[in-house]
Amino acid sequence: MDFHALSKKYEKEYLEKVIELLKIPSVFEEDRKYPYGKPIHDALEKMLSIGKEDGFITKNVDGHGGHIEFGYGDEVIGVLGHLDVVPAGAGWTTPPFDPVIRDGKLYARGAQDDKGPVMAAYIAMKILKEQGFQPKKKIRLILGTDEERDWKGIDYYFKNETMPSLGFTPDASFPVIHAEKGLLDSYMTYPVPENDGETKVISVKGGDRLNMVPDEAVAWVESHLNVEEIFNDYLAQHKLEGSVKAADGRFEVKMKGKAVHASKPQEGRNAITELLRFLQSLPLDGEYELFIQKVYQAFETTDGKGLNVKQMDDVSGPLTSNLGSIAMDEHTCKLGFNLRYPVSADYGVIDQNLKELAANNKGTYEVYDHLASIHLEKDHPFVKTLLSVYNKVTDEEAAAKTMGGATYARALEAGVAFGALFEDSPDTAHQKDEHVRISDMMKAIQIYSESLYELTR
Ligand SMILES: [Zn+2]
Repeated sequence: MDFHALSKKYEKEYLEKVIELLKIPSVFEEDRKYPYGKPIHDALEKMLSIGKEDGFITKNVDGHGGHIEFGYGDEVIGVLGHLDVVPAGAGWTTPPFDPVIRDGKLYARGAQDDKGPVMAAYIAMKILKEQGFQPKKKIRLILGTDEERDWKGIDYYFKNETMPSLGFTPDASFPVIHAEKGLLDSYMTYPVPENDGETKVISVKGGDRLNMVPDEAVAWVESHLNVEEIFNDYLAQHKLEGSVKAADGRFEVKMKGKAVHASKPQEGRNAITELLRFLQSLPLDGEYELFIQKVYQAFETTDGKGLNVKQMDDVSGPLTSNLGSIAMDEHTCKLGFNLRYPVSADYGVIDQNLKELAANNKGTYEVYDHLASIHLEKDHPFVKTLLSVYNKVTDEEAAAKTMGGATYARALEAGVAFGALFEDSPDTAHQKDEHVRISDMMKAIQIYSESLYELTR
């Protein structure tokens, strides 16, 4: 089969169908009748009816998800995408749910994340079907409905439907993402020791999202010293930015940092740890000073050393740690942090070490959210097949990649992320004027059809 020529032939149909789907504003809504609201229900029904009309087997799993399928045999190859989108937000050049094509690009909320790629995978299946190809395994396009929020739809779906033996998600980027680090959001809460010194820290506050390096943190300090002068000197000496204000014998000390995503904390500057570093340089009361030092040292580096969890592997690189939030008063100190651990790490040991660290400091440790790592070996036949098709179509010699973020592939027992963004594609997901290059989607259709062919022939 000439997959290149075939993908071209289906361009018009792809655009017609994806535009129909993009017109449905499938943002989550509270609703008594539909689990994720009427618009998401409508998007799921629309996609399933497209599949049905084209002669595929379709199934709606109680409004929580569904699938479109063809092929034979017991084994299922899954393609996992989602039909829900994030809210449109402001600032669009043209209305977000009124899809338009400008300069070879398709603009609409969901064009990239994830309706455009889902439809590319669908058209790839349709090409195979209309060529009379008879897959020896079932090819199942699984449609998620709650990816942007809590993944409840896909949890429900897999409680009721077979887990594919292997699968890919077209909800990230090419070439192949074969490993994703483990993700952990946790809190440690410590009692704050008495502070009898002449210089006292009254409170420290900063950060609200654990997955971002915080760019601002504030402390209130009580002191007879000229904290204004001390802080300004400190800022100059350490090439930092911040501000300080005096009011009623207290000082409001504000540290600025550089916000970046928590998957690469070493590229940012953490305002909370910088502020703690400054505070421990003040002449505080003995036990209290020790306490601030301990908290600072736990997060001084972003490799988890201070938390006793530092490690790395060749597949996915080093563990990263980000102190994402602090809320401290004169009684308690609550620290929120995000860890991304390598695929070969033993999560049980990480959990144990964090619990011990908390206990050793009379504190408590609590897991807020945990996503285990996923990993298919680079030389797994599935990974090799996808990669070789990608390289053939793009004429590249790319290798499989790993990442610290989370893709929908984690919902699969054995899965990878595969497209549909290319190296040079603009990443516009969740932004105003979200769009995809139509040429990219055509290339994705070619890659998906040939991959599904190779995987099931
Ligand atoms: Zn997505």
